[in-house]
Amino acid sequence: MNSSMPSLHAQLEPVAELLAGRRIAFLTGAGLSTDSGIPAYRGAGSAPRRTPMTVQTFLGSEDAQRRYWLGSHLGWRSFGAADPNPGHRAIAALESDARAVGVITQNVDGLHLAAGSARVVELHGTMRTVLCLRCGQAFSRDAVAAQIEHSNPWLDVPDEVLLAPDGDVRPESTAGFVLPICTVCRGPLKPDVVFFGEFIPADRFATAEALLRSGDALVVAGSSLVVNSGIRIIERARRRGLPIVIVNLEPTRADAWASVTIAASTSVVLPALQELLS
Ligand SMILES: [Zn+2]
Repeated sequence: MNSSMPSLHAQLEPVAELLAGRRIAFLTGAGLSTDSGIPAYRGAGSAPRRTPMTVQTFLGSEDAQRRYWLGSHLGWRSFGAADPNPGHRAIAALESDARAVGVITQNVDGLHLAAGSARVVELHGTMRTVLCLRCGQAFSRDAVAAQIEHSNPWLDVPDEVLLAPDGDVRPESTAGFVLPICTVCRGPLKPDVVFFGEFIPADRFATAEALLRSGDALVVAGSSLVVNSGIRIIERARRRGLPIVIVNLEPTRADAWASVTIAASTSVVLPALQELLS
């Protein structure tokens, strides 16, 4: 670690020069939260299955909802208490110093808000809120998790009992699962996240565009930009000729358009960058 620090600083100095005097809009993805213990392939509170459930499947049957909610609840039980890491905190600190205008995130874990960022656009929604599909009432995820534990006392066993080796919930676990319901109208509930097969609400994307417009540089942190929402933000930054800095362990779909790419951990790079800029 120590031997790599001088080279990291050498790498970051031109980046700091590029960003000096500019107000940064951040775009973040799953890679930012891996150091908070949230595996990139699942996200906070989502099911540990390999194939994500589409909204059509979810809405199509109570059996699918039981499968989704059981898997999602097990994920939440493991990752719901995750804390922000130095990457989240560096972004919040840059915003409070007026060096950043805010953050557009593809993450649904709520960790930017937990870190103290004020202006946050959660493009794909948040696992921390649950909505009633009938009356629209919002609930905190913790309240819904408590309802699930209360209606399903048999869940008090290790995850391995409930999950098949491939990470999917066992059909026999799903059969007896009692779904959480809206305590106002008894309607069905869904986490306030954009499912596969759903679109980001247009007004939310417009809010993200407005955030980007209020900045004059874009820093992408922890996203491989495989999701189209990220590419759409990059395209808008390109059209305005903004400097684009990408910090991601893996190559991304937008590396060709970046002014600089840094292949290193966001929880190391962002605090170092914050220090150089302050
Ligand atoms: Zn309701």
